Amino acid sequence: MIERLALIGTGLIGGSLALALKAAGAVGEVVGCGRNPATLERARELGIIDRYATDPAQAVAGADVVFLAVPIAAMREVFRALRPGLAGEVLITDGGSAKGCVVEDARAELGPWFAHFVPGHPIAGTEQSGPDAAFATLFAGRRVILTPLPENSAEDVARAEALWLATGAQLETMSVAHHDHVLAATSHLPHVLAFTLVDSLARMEERQEIFRYAAGGFRDFTRIASSDPTMWRDICLGNRTELLALIGRFQQDLSALAASIEAGEGEALSALFARAKRVRDTLYSL
Ligand code: NAP
Repeated sequence: MIERLALIGTGLIGGSLALALKAAGAVGEVVGCGRNPATLERARELGIIDRYATDPAQAVAGADVVFLAVPIAAMREVFRALRPGLAGEVLITDGGSAKGCVVEDARAELGPWFAHFVPGHPIAGTEQSGPDAAFATLFAGRRVILTPLPENSAEDVARAEALWLATGAQLETMSVAHHDHVLAATSHLPHVLAFTLVDSLARMEERQEIFRYAAGGFRDFTRIASSDPTMWRDICLGNRTELLALIGRFQQDLSALAASIEAGEGEALSALFARAKRVRDTLYSL
C-alpha cells in the first residue's frame, strides 16, 4: 500500500497508473505535478489526483513513492527540481520509453537519492496523450520492464514490482542497455518508419490522390504516426545510438530490396516476403 504517491506528469501514462492503483485500493493520496494548472485541475476532476502542486519539490514532500511520467527530455530538470523535497525511505521510479538517458539524468541530479531510483517502462500506450486519455486498465495484462540498477536495494526493487503488479501488469526485468537495444528495434524504429512514410507521401504533389486511395493496410501500417511528436522527438534523441545503428541496418536492407526489384530478382523477393510472413504469422498467431 502506497500512502502518498507523487505523480510528476498526469497524462496518459501517469494518469493511467494513478487510476489503476486507486482502482486496486493500492494508494492512499495522489499528489499531481505538472507545468500547467489547467491540466492538473482536469486531472483532479477526472479523479486521477487528489491535489496538486506545480513545484516538484512541494509535490514530492511526504510522498513514499514518486513516479515520473513526463517527456524524456524533461526528466533531468524534474529530477533537479524535486530533489529538495525528497525525504525518508522514498522510492523514485519512472515510465520513460528509453532508459539509458533517464538513468544518466537521475545519476546527475539525484545525489544520494539515486540509489532509490528504480527505472521502469510500461510496454503499453495509445496514440492519445493528456489526462483525458488515461484509463485504469491500460496496463492490465501488459508487460512492464524494470531495469534495476546495481545501486538499488532489493527492497526498493520489490516496491517498484509491487506497484506495477497492483495494476495487473506482467513484470520483466532486464539491464538498461538491453532494454534500449530491444526497444529500439521493436518500438523506436517502427515509429520512425511510420512517421517518415506518412511525411514522405504527404510532401508529394499528388498527395490528395494518394491518400484518397489509402486503404486498411496503410491505416494499419501508419497508426503509430499519430503518436505524440514531442514524446517521439525525445525518444529518438534519448536512444540515438541504438536507433542510429538500426536505421543504418534497415537502410542497407531497403537498398538491397530496391536492388532486387531493379534487377527483376523475383526469387529473392519471394524468399524475403515468405520469411517475413512466416515470422509475422508466428508472432501473432500465439
Ligand atoms: P502525456 O500524456 O503528454 O503526459 C505528459 C505529462 O508530463 C503532462 O501531464 C505534462 O503536463 C507533463 N509535463 C511535460 N513536461 C513537463 C515538465 N517539464 N515538467 C513537469 N511536467 C511536465 O505523455 P505520456 O504519454 O503520459 O508519456 C509520459 C512518459 O511515458 C514519457 O516519458 C514517455 O516516453 C513514456 N511512455 C509513453 C507511452 C505512450 O504510449 N504514450 C508508453 C510508454 C511510456 P504539463 O504540460 O502541464 O506540464
